[in-house]
Amino acid sequence: MKIWGRLQQKFVQVPSTSKEAITDALLGQWQVKSDNDGTKLNGIHVQKNTCNYLVPDATKRLTLQDSKATLTSKFPAWQIPVDSAADSLGFFAKQHQQMLVKQSTWQDWANLSPLVPEIASAIQIEPLEKIIKDAIPHLEEICHRPRSYLKMETEKLPVARVQRIAPHAIAYLTSHTEDWECKTFRGIRPKNVLSLVREELLDIYENRVTVRLIDHVLVYLRQRIRDVEKLKNELEQVLNFSEVSQSIHWRNRERICHLWGENFDAAPQLKVAEVTLDFLKLIKQKLLTLTDTDLYKAIPRSAEVEGTLRNTNILIGDRHYREIAKLWREWSKWRSKRSKTAQQLFDFYQQTINGFDAFCFLLCSKVLMKTDRDRGFGYSSDSALPERGQLYSLQQDSHKESETLNFRWLDDGSIQLESEKLGILKFIPLVAQLAESPDEQTSEQILKLLESLVDQADSPQHRTIILYFGTAQDLSQISPKFQRFFNTIGNDLLSSDLNSSSKSDRKLALLPVSPFDILSTERVARAIQWWIYSQKYSAYPIKNGLESRLPDELLRKLQQSGAMRQSSQNNQLLVMRPLSPDDRMIFNSNLHSMIKREEAKGNSSRGEVVKLRQLKNLPENIDREFESLLTCPTCQAKYSATGFDISFENIGNDCFTAHCQHKQCGTNWGLQRCGQCQTNYPYIKLGGANPEISDRSVGWCDRVFGRDVLAVTCFADNSLQFYICSNCGSCGNSSQSSSYYCQRC
Ligand SMILES: [Zn+2]
Ligand SMILES: [Zn+2]
Repeated sequence: MKIWGRLQQKFVQVPSTSKEAITDALLGQWQVKSDNDGTKLNGIHVQKNTCNYLVPDATKRLTLQDSKATLTSKFPAWQIPVDSAADSLGFFAKQHQQMLVKQSTWQDWANLSPLVPEIASAIQIEPLEKIIKDAIPHLEEICHRPRSYLKMETEKLPVARVQRIAPHAIAYLTSHTEDWECKTFRGIRPKNVLSLVREELLDIYENRVTVRLIDHVLVYLRQRIRDVEKLKNELEQVLNFSEVSQSIHWRNRERICHLWGENFDAAPQLKVAEVTLDFLKLIKQKLLTLTDTDLYKAIPRSAEVEGTLRNTNILIGDRHYREIAKLWREWSKWRSKRSKTAQQLFDFYQQTINGFDAFCFLLCSKVLMKTDRDRGFGYSSDSALPERGQLYSLQQDSHKESETLNFRWLDDGSIQLESEKLGILKFIPLVAQLAESPDEQTSEQILKLLESLVDQADSPQHRTIILYFGTAQDLSQISPKFQRFFNTIGNDLLSSDLNSSSKSDRKLALLPVSPFDILSTERVARAIQWWIYSQKYSAYPIKNGLESRLPDELLRKLQQSGAMRQSSQNNQLLVMRPLSPDDRMIFNSNLHSMIKREEAKGNSSRGEVVKLRQLKNLPENIDREFESLLTCPTCQAKYSATGFDISFENIGNDCFTAHCQHKQCGTNWGLQRCGQCQTNYPYIKLGGANPEISDRSVGWCDRVFGRDVLAVTCFADNSLQFYICSNCGSCGNSSQSSSYYCQRC
């Protein structure tokens, strides 16, 4: 057998000795590829030449064996999605399989909603929960006035406390002088006497059933409350987005509302979720009070009750206990529906992880492709729905070969985007719920582990982003110190001390995504936005390779006007801006007269004339090279030399600023120089009023702007003027850079 490490994207060494423990297991990290028939995972026979995820068994353990080695490990419970969440993920794998069978197109897939399926039924009160509520008065009655078993015990008591004398008390007293108070002339006055004591025993079978039932139901309720709370959060998020509020940019709001569906009203759903939640919390509270009763405390923790109840007289005859037996049976029915054989559990986890992969593939498809409601990144494809291990291509409207994006859903479930110009962007889905890590130490360990495994080649041409299963809400539970490291595309890692040059060396890109979080799509979109546009903008100034071809006379003119300059390092010719109408006029007339002059020289300068004629297209060539810098990243308005929609300016330091005046747009974008490290970083600033951002918790950028961001705005700054340098992580409003800004205005 071979083990594929998805994080490393290669096969990892399998220890050859037996009983070797795999350390630091993250769920979804490993797959086993079996090359013989004898491989077993958690006792389940793994078919030859298939690829399976290493998953936990019912005890959260992992056992992998073949004839040569046995590997074991344990998955911490917090990493593993709970059943209801796993079901939601599994839905996406099922959906993908069904659509493959139906021969759906990729476009159909991209139109699928990335939100929790069947949310409306998941927020209703379940029949079992109504039965629980009906049983509560009976549970209360039993806990306060339980049946008990009466036992008579013989005990030696001081005379004053004796109620009933034991039958052999006199005989005992005569032989025990130490229990005499004194001797009188009539006989003995006793100090202690053997007496009969009634003892009430609560630990009887029927009470054990009651108490264990309370425990089981509490476990059930806690999980259900968490589930409904998550759904309620998602609904609240949607409502926030659909209300016209000052704190969210309208572009992002529109996208999110489209995602949710225009005809869907979240408000009544939210009401339902709230009612259900109140209902569940109330019965949970009532049950919790019962854990404080004498009856509850009288039953030992270890006292188990087997699933099928014995029919005792009390359980049949007592009107309260009868109801308890009824609830017990309902609860076991529910539980047996959920309980799985080893094989079922194995299939369930495979389906869960495959489902998360499919969910991430859906997010990427949605973001890249033009759908009915959203432009995405403008790609389209008439291809069939992608399967793993195949290469697909996505085209831009322009149908230019160079703009084609290759899309691979790799065999291991990772998603790879690649293009000639942009290099490779890889998304690795990891189903482990990293934001559920129980403490700081664990969070730190996870980051260190990922940093050591994931290839972080510090090149914009090759980026890897881990998508883990989680929501912004989950993230807010972990230590604030680590939150931002768990939601970043690796370009906003603000150094801890603003005034020092201490640099955070964490560049790991890690994003939470979940069908429970409506912003998941925007996070993935922001990552792709950064991959595409940061590279396009950083190509400024344009290196044209003209230096050998442009005659000095023409070059001088273009340099004088500021359209071109020669690099001081290697004499490379840099184009600083597209040619203005004036530039064009001067260029064309100069070129024209030069050609005329050469032609007059006759045959001898024929070669020269051909060379000069080739330069005729130069202004248009330059326009083409500037096209990606000059197309508005939000509304896609295009520059034209005669139009006024887009303005472009070289602002020195090899930086530029561009502005879109298209209706309703007003977007600014460009390259700015960091005052701290003197590198240039790209930014996009949306037009319109600045949103009033009250909530600056990690991930605020996704909420306010969504994908329409490159460098992230500084946390500390309310004017939204300054950015976090994507190279060194310092905030642009340090003293040096503010002087730079002043030069600008
Ligand atoms: Zn625009
Ligand atoms: Zn910097």
